[in-house]
This record gives sequence, structure tokens and C-alpha cells, in this order.
Amino acid sequence: MLGYVSARADSIFAVQGLGTHALALAGSPAQRAHLKAFARGAGIAAFALTEPEAGSDVAAIATRAAPTADGYRLDGDKLFISNLGIADHATVFATTDPALGSAGTTAFWVPLDAPGVTVKPMTAIAAHPIGALELRGVELPASAKIGEVGQGMKLALTTLDAFRVSVGAAAVGMARRALDEALGFVAGRRQFGKTLAEQPLVQAHLADMMVDLDAARLLVLRAAYLKDTTGGRVTTEVSIAKLGATEAAQRVIDRAVQLFGGRGVMAGAIVEHLYRAIRPLRIYEGTSEIQRTIIGRALAQGATKR
Ligand SMILES: Cc1cc2nc3c(=O)[nH]c(=O)nc-3n(C[C@H](O)[C@H](O)[C@H](O)COP(=O)(O)OP(=O)(O)OC[C@H]3O[C@@H](n4cnc5c(N)ncnc54)[C@H](O)[C@@H]3O)c2cc1C
Repeated sequence: MLGYVSARADSIFAVQGLGTHALALAGSPAQRAHLKAFARGAGIAAFALTEPEAGSDVAAIATRAAPTADGYRLDGDKLFISNLGIADHATVFATTDPALGSAGTTAFWVPLDAPGVTVKPMTAIAAHPIGALELRGVELPASAKIGEVGQGMKLALTTLDAFRVSVGAAAVGMARRALDEALGFVAGRRQFGKTLAEQPLVQAHLADMMVDLDAARLLVLRAAYLKDTTGGRVTTEVSIAKLGATEAAQRVIDRAVQLFGGRGVMAGAIVEHLYRAIRPLRIYEGTSEIQRTIIGRALAQGATKR
């Protein structure tokens, strides 16, 4: 419903979960005490995994958390971090020992007003608060560590396992809005002496939009149901839902723009806004290619039901 009404509200809400989920999974009692304030919106969180040289290849993260007498000192750069600019805390993934690769990845709860932290706002094609994060000699107490040293990659991937479903759900909301807008438009617009809704080729577009929308919705519902009922990781089904729903929503929205004709590409039209808003969903929380890699690998290993 958030995706239907406001893609921006959806992204802020979803990233609030993404940025605090590691605390819910592995935080100390003092860290978990923050969660109620974040649930109320009294604090805003970000999830800082991606780096300039570590995008799809998250195991390549180079942000360093060097142990100090009292805790850790963070140095590194994070890129494309949602909610930066409005967030006050971020879950930051860094390595305590570069020699260990992803086995050294550890999560930290970082106040964004700490000395050495710089937020650089970026502008995306969709209305989406986002920026880069510079960490230069950021001194953190040992209590800023979330969970155990070396548990960071597991926390990051378990978080994505939950929130990729919400990306799929947002895509369903945006696609449903596009179909509703298109239906409203074709019912009123007349060409060749009758409404567009009465013309068979337009009805064919509408039918294809409905099939894509329903398929996307069912994939998301299945992944969410499995996530809620199995209690464990359901990575493949989550990837199927994220890939299927975001790609389907892009097709639905593109057809809606087509049905609006010239009006669909004019700045300010709802379908023009949706056309820009849907595009990043095929990239963030793992690109469509990464979802295909996860699904394909599971199939090749015989590790998923058919
Ligand atoms: C709007 C937006 C919000 C974001 N929010 C966050 C956030 O809050 N926190 C965060 O940590 N990150 C965030 N990201 C970053 C996002 O997760 C990355 O952009 C994404 O994982 C891809 O990384 P990259 O941009 O470096 O592209 P790259 O990894 O460089 O990939 C470039 C292209 O190559 C393809 N590719 C890469 N490897 C392969 C392969 N092995 N096989 C086939 N194709 C491949 C990719 O699919 C992509 O099409 C956000 C990104 C955007 C656009």
C-alpha cells in the first residue's frame, strides 16, 4: 500500500527496517533498547554495505574496523546508502581483519554525528533520500559492535533475505497503482469514435498488465508466507519474488506509460513518476542479475524445489 500511494514513503519505511534489523537479530540489550524509538520514527536508520569497489560483490568490502584500546576505529567509504541525509544512525559493515575476507566482516551501530563521519547527499532519478558516507578515523566504543566479530556478513544477508520481500511488495504496489491509473485513463480517453477501453489492442495491454501484477503479487505472498512460517532463511524463494515482482512491475508501468500516450511522459504525470520510481528496485538489495545468480546456482545444485 505504501508503494501504491508513495514510493518515497515506501523506501524510507523499508530502509528503517533494513537499517535496524541487525539490532533485532543480534543486538545487545542496550542496542535493542533503541528499537522502540526507531519503530516510532523518533530515530531514522540506514544500512551501509555497498562501497565504491564492492557493489554486487559484497565480500569485497574494504571499510576497516581496526581494534583500539577502547573499541574500534572505522575508515572507509560507503556509496548509494538510502536514508542518508535524514538518518541519524547507520548499521555499517566493516572488516576487522582484511586477511579473513568476508569471515572478518562485522556490523557496527554508528551515530552519524560522530567525529570523522561525513554524509554526502546524492540525487537519484526517483525521489529517494540517498548519499555517500565517508568514515575517517571514526572512534567507536566496543559497545557499538552488533553481534560477534565475523558475524557481519551473515547479519547482512539475513537482513536482505527479509527485506528483498518488501522490495517485491513495493513493486506490486507501484504496479497496481499504474494499472489503476491506466484503467481510469482508457475509460475516459476517446480516439476513433470510442473509448480506448473499448479497443481490443488496449484490452490486450490491460490483460497482460493484470497477469504480470497477479504473478508478482503471488510470488511475494509465497515468499513472505515461507519467511514467516519456516523461521529460517528462504533465500531462493525470496530471490524469485524480488526478481519476478520488480521485473513484472517495470513491464506493467511501461505499458501504463504507453497507454497514456504523450501524457504519460510529461513531467508530473503519475505514471511518469512511477516509471522513474520503479527503476532502482531492479538494482538495489541485489540486482536482477544477482537474483538470477542465486536462483540459478540453487537449481544447478539441486537445492530448490521445482
Ligand atoms: C536507489 C538505490 C538505493 C540503494 N540503497 C542502498 C542501501 O541503502 N545500502 C546499501 O548498502 N546499498 C544500497 N544501494 C546499492 C545497491 O545495492 C548496489 O547499487 C547494487 O548492489 C549493485 O552494485 P553496483 O551499483 O556497484 O553495481 P555493480 O556490482 O558494479 O554491477 C554493475 C552491473 O553488472 C552486473 N553484474 C555484476 N556482477 C555480475 C555477475 N557476476 N554476473 C552478471 N552481472 C553482474 C550487475 O547486475 C549490474 O547490472 C542502493 C542503490 C540504489 C540505486
